[in-house]
Amino acid sequence: MANGKNNKPQGCAFCGRNVGDAPDTFFIPSMYEGLYICSDCLKKGGEIVREVRGKKNPAATESPVARLKVPTPREIKEELDRFVIGQEQAKKVLSVAVHNHYARLKAKFSGRDAALPDELADVELDKSNVLLLGPTGSGKTLLAQTLAKMLDVPFAITDATTLTEAGYVGEDVENILLRLYQASGNDIARTQIGIIYIDELDKISRKGENASITRDVSGEGVQQALLKILEGTVANVPPQGGRKHPNQEFLHIDTTNILFICGGAFVGLDKLIKRRRGRRVLGFSGAEGVPAAEDEEKDAAQLLHECEPEDLVHFGLIPELVGRLPVFAALEPLDKAALIRVLKEPKNALVKQYRRLMAMENVDLQYTDEALAELAERAVKRGTGARGLRALMENLMLELMFTAPSGPGPARCVITAEVVRGEAEPELERR
Ligand code: ADP
Repeated sequence: MANGKNNKPQGCAFCGRNVGDAPDTFFIPSMYEGLYICSDCLKKGGEIVREVRGKKNPAATESPVARLKVPTPREIKEELDRFVIGQEQAKKVLSVAVHNHYARLKAKFSGRDAALPDELADVELDKSNVLLLGPTGSGKTLLAQTLAKMLDVPFAITDATTLTEAGYVGEDVENILLRLYQASGNDIARTQIGIIYIDELDKISRKGENASITRDVSGEGVQQALLKILEGTVANVPPQGGRKHPNQEFLHIDTTNILFICGGAFVGLDKLIKRRRGRRVLGFSGAEGVPAAEDEEKDAAQLLHECEPEDLVHFGLIPELVGRLPVFAALEPLDKAALIRVLKEPKNALVKQYRRLMAMENVDLQYTDEALAELAERAVKRGTGARGLRALMENLMLELMFTAPSGPGPARCVITAEVVRGEAEPELERR
């Protein structure tokens, strides 16, 4: 076997086959000259390793669904509370939807359904994709992301406005699946139980109020494409992303068990809800029991809690897509008090992050309550919710982060409202 005369493989050192015996096999050199292993033996070796490993540690070979731990809705809500301020109703709705989604999956794959009474065993459970309605920077993405982290499933975010129908310039809908696949560590089984967050769903609505007359064809095309993956399909995804071309090998990703959470600000939806309610009151002369005048007092955010599927259709979503998003929850805009809490309370709150950064430079950083109130007020004026806080904070901390690392050693720095207003410089006091 070890014939060291030249570098050409003579045969496999394991199965003994020669090159001529195995035309479809390729031979991989070892570190010893002339010593080769064929690809078939290598494959067999891999199988043996997996088998032995599986016996030692059965969990390693379990399917991702079997490994999945499904928290109760209460546990999910508690975890969301650690990261997301306010949004009580949305958290509750999501906790229930996500628990049901994964409990259903687990039952489906573990055959636990068999324990159900006969009349329930055949009842098919629909998937509950979720639609989050709420202004920018109110925590929609954060909620979806926190859920994925907690469940340890892959997560991908996409923006509906970048999507196009296949064949148009832009991103194919399948690329979202590719991103989820990449987030799963290229593991198809994990990809298929992941969570996808689709932002700005409102921006692909048909334009115009009377949707059936003024059709925005491009928006509708994207909605149709999304509908397919939301419903559950086996999508052919090009592994490199980008355009599809013939003779390409595809990843086959089944979207049936992927949980889709969609979000959007849906500006103007409140007016449609209000109009529907008003119409009902008129039509049934108050039979619904809500006088139209009372609606006037409800602000936009409150009205979103009362959204019904028909309102979304009026807004410009196609009815089939609305049908695939059976769970909705509304998020409130964050007011000043909530933004102050966002700054300091969540597990990764900005204040905590900057304090940690500065502690690494030996600086004890403190913010006065007035400073946080000032920051929150500025963010409210920007109108981008908690999103504005990060930029404001970055700006505020720039000077300090620039000077602290070459500072006087252990020091303390207090950020006051004056500093936030730009009336004073942050000062490093030596400790
Ligand atoms: P949306 O998706 O609603 O536009 P995001 O979830 O992307 O908003 O929020 C942007 C950032 O603002 C997040 O990274 C998060 O740090 C912060 N944030 C937004 N809402 C909240 C909230 N309710 N609680 C805590 N932080 C929040």
